[in-house]
Amino acid sequence: MRVLIVEDEHKIANSIKKGLEQESLAADVAYTGTDGYDLASTEDYDLIILDLLLPGLNGIEICRKLRSQKIHTPILVLTAKGQVADKVNGLNAGADDYLTKPFAFEELLARIKALSRRPPEQTGTVLNFDDLTLNTITYEVTREGKSLNLSRKEFSLLEYLMLHPNQTLTKDQIISHVWDYDSDILPNTVEVYIGYLRGKIDKPFPKRPALIHTLRGFGYRLGK
Ligand code: CA
Repeated sequence: MRVLIVEDEHKIANSIKKGLEQESLAADVAYTGTDGYDLASTEDYDLIILDLLLPGLNGIEICRKLRSQKIHTPILVLTAKGQVADKVNGLNAGADDYLTKPFAFEELLARIKALSRRPPEQTGTVLNFDDLTLNTITYEVTREGKSLNLSRKEFSLLEYLMLHPNQTLTKDQIISHVWDYDSDILPNTVEVYIGYLRGKIDKPFPKRPALIHTLRGFGYRLGK
C-alpha cells in the first residue's frame, strides 16, 4: 500500500512518513499543494493524507480537482482543532474522512486501515451491503428492492455504518462522524437512533438476516 502525504509542516509530514514506513507502508511526501496535486494526479496511490492549509493549492482545491478528474483515491483530510467548517468543506469537496490535529499516530493508522479496507465498489454513489442499498446522491435507501423512508439523521447514521461494514464502531466514532459539534447529544442518543434504524431496516424483514448488531460495551456493527 502506497500513501501520499501532502503537508507543509516538515516535522509532521516526516513523522507520519516514518511511522507509516515502520508499519511497512510506502509513503511519499509533498510539502506544497502544487507538488501534492501533481503527484496525486500522476501517480497511483492507495490513499492520500491531505493537510488543508498549504502553499500553492489548498487541500480543498486539490480534493475538488482530483474528484473532478475522476481520481477516486481515498482522501483523509487533516484539519486544525475546532475548524468545523474545514471538515465540512473537505467532506463536501470529496474527502472520505478527516482527522483533527494534533492526533495520535495510532488514530491515524486506524483511519488509514479503515479507508483502505473499503471495497472499491463502495467508492461510487451507491453503497451496498447484503440486500441493502443506499444512494448518497438521491438519498434513496432500499432493502430487498423496497424503498425505505429514513430521516436525515437515520440516513447519515446508516451511511456511516455502510462505509465501515463488518467493523465495530464505538459511540464516540459514530457521534463524531454523524453529529456536528454543536448538536445536543445525550448519552443514549446513538442507541435511540440505532433503535430507529433497526425498526426500519431489520424488523420489517424478519426472513432476512438482521444487519445491525449491538456489541454491549463496545459499539455497533453492520454485518450479517
Ligand atoms: Ca499546513
